[in-house]
Amino acid sequence: MVSTASSADTSAMPSTNLLCPTCKQGDLITISMMLSDRDLTFTTCHLCEAKWWERDGDLVPLASVIDLVVKK
Ligand SMILES: [Zn+2]
Repeated sequence: MVSTASSADTSAMPSTNLLCPTCKQGDLITISMMLSDRDLTFTTCHLCEAKWWERDGDLVPLASVIDLVVKK
């Protein structure tokens, strides 16, 4: 049974709406870049300014990011 649901279903979360895990309110700004053949993602919260780095989906400490940039 397929229904083209156009009625308001407020329980359905928009998949693109990423919320900040810190304040649970802010919108996330994500910037992706390639660094030394690695896919690096910088994410920051618009509201509380929480920020972190991810590499291949894993959380990366800022010190490691600096390490990546410095080491050639
Ligand atoms: Zn936040």
